[in-house]
Amino acid sequence: MTVSVGKSNNICKIYDSGHTCKTLECLSPVFFCTLSCAEWQQPAGCLTVPVTILQMYQARHTPLRDGIIRRNQQGESMKYEQERTQITIFLRRMLLSGLTVGSGGNISVRIAGTDAFCISPTAVAYDSITAADIVVMRSDGSILDSARTPSSEWRMHAAVYQARAEVIAVVHTHSPYAATFACLREEIPAVHYLLGFAGRKVPLAPYATYGSEELAAAAVTALGNEFHAVLLATHGLLAVGRNLEHAFTVAEETEFVARVYWQARAIGTPAVLPDDEMQRITERFRHYGSQENTHDE
Ligand SMILES: [Zn+2]
Repeated sequence: MTVSVGKSNNICKIYDSGHTCKTLECLSPVFFCTLSCAEWQQPAGCLTVPVTILQMYQARHTPLRDGIIRRNQQGESMKYEQERTQITIFLRRMLLSGLTVGSGGNISVRIAGTDAFCISPTAVAYDSITAADIVVMRSDGSILDSARTPSSEWRMHAAVYQARAEVIAVVHTHSPYAATFACLREEIPAVHYLLGFAGRKVPLAPYATYGSEELAAAAVTALGNEFHAVLLATHGLLAVGRNLEHAFTVAEETEFVARVYWQARAIGTPAVLPDDEMQRITERFRHYGSQENTHDE
């Protein structure tokens, strides 16, 4: 694995050998710099990078400045590097925003014009994941690039891409409030206008074992052509969008409304917006993210 640290036009590449420093017995990971860079001030005999860069790398919550992560020491470009890097960023956002814990949930991005996609791997902690860990695969399950095993829910992602040509990104979470209603096996009605990101409601897909083709089929059927989010019974939430930012926003806003719905039901009976009003709102949210139609109310 190699990591680039961007510095305007002066790009330095550091390579993580995966070993600890033997020369000075400092127990730091050994890095090799391929280009001379005055800023690094590398001590002779030890190829450890300065502590500030090392800390940035080890912290992993802070993407290196230009976020470029390359695959090998020849500087060969990683396949679909942009999509894979974007997924690692949103996996961390998913953790930080409380939409999942550990390595739960998963994210994918379609490779434009195909039914292939980049998807998070199974059993890799999201706070230490790198672009090289993201799996590139086809909808039939064949792996195009990566040493990792894809998320156990890859069938669900593949089924969405096959069923909905306009969907470019899929976010699956175990967000607690949405999961609460998924466990109650109830749909989420339009108790708040922000549910319009998902549609006029959040439908419920019947229970099926995680990772199964049955779950993939159930999710796609419930999603239909209308909705951007669906609850998976006794499991979690699936959100889709025209790009990753959009799909992530659908997941976040759905979780917000699920929480409000739970709170409102705890002390009373919330009103539900009628379908014609939700029709207007979902139409406005359809183009969310474009300059002409931002949402900050
Ligand atoms: Zn899941």
